[in-house]
Amino acid sequence: MPTVTLQGVKRIAIRTSVAIAAVVIVLGALLTWIWHTRPEIADTGLRAPVDTVDELSTVTVTWFGVTTLLFDDGETQILIDGFISRPSLFETLLGIPVSSDAPMINYVLNEYRVQRLAAIIPVHSHYDHAMDVGAIANRSSASIIGSETTANIARGVGVPEDQIVVIADATPYTFGDFTVTLIPSVHAPIGPRGSVPLPGTVDEPLETPARITAWRVGGAYSIVVAHPQGTTIVQGSAGYVPNALDQVDADVVMLGVGLLESLGRDYTEGYWQSLVTATGATRVFPVHFDDYTQPFGKILLFPVLLDNFVNTASWLQEIRDTWDKTTQLYLPVFGQPLVLYPEESPDT
Ligand SMILES: [Zn+2]
Repeated sequence: MPTVTLQGVKRIAIRTSVAIAAVVIVLGALLTWIWHTRPEIADTGLRAPVDTVDELSTVTVTWFGVTTLLFDDGETQILIDGFISRPSLFETLLGIPVSSDAPMINYVLNEYRVQRLAAIIPVHSHYDHAMDVGAIANRSSASIIGSETTANIARGVGVPEDQIVVIADATPYTFGDFTVTLIPSVHAPIGPRGSVPLPGTVDEPLETPARITAWRVGGAYSIVVAHPQGTTIVQGSAGYVPNALDQVDADVVMLGVGLLESLGRDYTEGYWQSLVTATGATRVFPVHFDDYTQPFGKILLFPVLLDNFVNTASWLQEIRDTWDKTTQLYLPVFGQPLVLYPEESPDT
């Protein structure tokens, strides 16, 4: 029998530790490289429109990343989604409980003059859409409109019951000159084997801090924001119900494209036809193309390995050229009010 000396054991232990450390360093470097390999927004070939806001009463929309969008006609403001707190990549991956970032929300509401907010309406209830709806409602007199899941997210942070409206069907809600209708839709099937990630509902008030997985999808909607100046549809995630919008006429579509690349070009074509061709929209703004683990205000595309938006953007341009030649495809710019319905677009 070979004799095992203490020194021999030590040597093996040191060698094993060195080998493990080497593997961890190489894997870490590889993951860091993958995470930082991202296309540039400029590579999409898409740009922002150049219309200028000439009157206070011009309907504008301001994009705050993902699908958080502030509609404003100078009198009334409507906020689609509420996602200002940005849980970091580590909090997201490690399931560290998170709650709304109050100082950041206060800063944003002041900086962007969100002082006439009538309603907050999330497209569905995942955290990257609905995380801050309650904290924003608590700093305003706005109503939160949405599913029972959205209502429970609001209740969890103490939003008064008279600021919460649970929608029953496609009832139009009027706020100033805006009329908003939530048409039942579906979330994009971007989970394993075509499933919806974080499915189900939130059935009790959602108390925070909570893991990001606590925000379940709830109901998913196509939100139709109508105004005498024009109509916009907000589609938060790239799910669609064929023919669901055939009776809706729209001028603009805010088209959710998160992980759309993974669903393929044919799916993308069906999605476009259902949202854009069917409604006759003449301006399309992709949204939800930005990595939402970044801090608020930092717009980066996802790493190519997760979602190559440059590919999706080229499909969208081809599909547009096939079905809706005169429709303009633009990108929104963070924090900059966009004129939704220019009388005569200088680009056309
Ligand atoms: Zn979602």
